[in-house]
Amino acid sequence: MQQHSVRHILQQLDGFYTRTEISVIAGLVLDEICSNKNTYLSGSELRKVEDIVRRLKNGEPIQYVLGKTEFYGMPFEVTPDVLIPRPETEELVEWILSENRQEGCSVLDIGTGSGCIAVTLAKKMTSADLHAWDISEEALRVASGNACLNGVSVRFSLRDILQPVEEYPGFDIIVSNPPYVTESEKKDMEMNVLDFEPHIALFVPDHDALLFYDRIAGAALKMLRCKGKIYFEINRGKGLEVCSMLHDKGFVNIELRKDISGNDRMVRAVK
Ligand code: GLN
Repeated sequence: MQQHSVRHILQQLDGFYTRTEISVIAGLVLDEICSNKNTYLSGSELRKVEDIVRRLKNGEPIQYVLGKTEFYGMPFEVTPDVLIPRPETEELVEWILSENRQEGCSVLDIGTGSGCIAVTLAKKMTSADLHAWDISEEALRVASGNACLNGVSVRFSLRDILQPVEEYPGFDIIVSNPPYVTESEKKDMEMNVLDFEPHIALFVPDHDALLFYDRIAGAALKMLRCKGKIYFEINRGKGLEVCSMLHDKGFVNIELRKDISGNDRMVRAVK
């Protein structure tokens, strides 16, 4: 019966996903649904599997269907209120961890979404003091659930970074993966991103593509201590523009790095 269900999933998703994707999905679904792999699926388990297949055929990302994913080897819950954490963002976290091993760092993540950056940094930099902001109350609910799930403490605040910030030169690190996809890049995006992920976390107008970078860098000048660092995930087409904006604002030691696919994807700069 269970074998029959696996086949059932495989057959129905054929044409929607590649064979490799289907076998990964089948494994995830079975892990999630089947209480005991050696027994038959119950009627309710079978109905759940069928519902999952229906949602997947509709193009919904598996992470939303299951309500969870992994980031940096840690479990994260996700809902359509937050972006699904991406591997590029793991590379940004890796960069931060590799050069900030000092005790008692104070870190702010702006636009935390699922909390993947803040929660992972809190877990790996055990003596750090983590703060995370988002404009979405729903996202903050998901993020604080993820802090709990991973047993870390992060101070979450409902904040709009487009509003002025107070002078507070207290942070050692400010990190952000803000919206950076321009409206004109929409046409090149996968439907399962476009139709299901939150547009508020993705898009910026073509005429103001660096909107969030500019505001966050400005806020960072007020909120970073002297020699504090800023880390950004960026649109692969905007590396040089982000670097030159940071240079114009007086940041130093600006470094642009590529992701594993060879695209300009992250920037670090020092106040
Ligand atoms: N990397 C995401 C994507 O390409 C975008 C993330 C963002 O806008 N911050 O879908």
